[in-house]
Amino acid sequence: MKFYVITIFPDLIELFANFGIIGRAARSGLIKIEPVNLRDFAYSKHKQTDDEPYGGGPGMIMKPEPPYYAISSVRKADNNTKVILLTPQGREFSQEIAEEFSKEESLCFVCGRYEGFDERIRTMVDSELSIGKYILSGGEIAACAVIDATARLLPGVIGNSESLIAETYGTNPEYPQYTRPAVFKGMEVPQILLSGNHEKIRQWRKEHSYKKGEYK
Ligand code: SAM
Repeated sequence: MKFYVITIFPDLIELFANFGIIGRAARSGLIKIEPVNLRDFAYSKHKQTDDEPYGGGPGMIMKPEPPYYAISSVRKADNNTKVILLTPQGREFSQEIAEEFSKEESLCFVCGRYEGFDERIRTMVDSELSIGKYILSGGEIAACAVIDATARLLPGVIGNSESLIAETYGTNPEYPQYTRPAVFKGMEVPQILLSGNHEKIRQWRKEHSYKKGEYK
């Protein structure tokens, strides 16, 4: 699966694409993460990607031309890609959307900065996505979160695909887990997990599985 990320900070995306499960998947060719430098599509003398808002107001707004040319270039190279604008007003990301996305061949994320986008940029994309009800200073962390949650659902990305089944929001919910040592600072691992009785362990895990939103 291919992920394009249109951004003024391509190095941030490069860094993310190098570590852990995502880095391994990228190196093995299961996914490809391609940062697209928005400034390469800013054709003004000073490569400006922002400007003052018409009508006045605080801060700067992302200009429409650089995203327009960057999106056109990605679409020209890959006409299967779905272009997603990262905005706090978009559809809220969830595990269901990650599953939906994992069936796509290619996604292209457009990261905002400053006070947000010139409104005309909304007409250039297929959809808008938010990662939650809060304001980030840019779309890059949102893009990384969405790529991470989506890519780990792709076949082969996670070594043991059974890990995906017993996960919060998965088919069977996650349950409390322990590793060595059996006693740490007086806190003991439940005896049943040391018993070797697989049926009793399965029952215990079922009884103790987390409910969504249990820990606040
Ligand atoms: N003034 C804008 C508003 O109130 O909607 C916020 C702009 S924010 C400082 C800059 C950029 O960060 C946004 O254009 C968007 O790309 C990204 N961003 C911020 N919060 C986000 C969220 N919750 N989900 C996705 N992207 C977000």
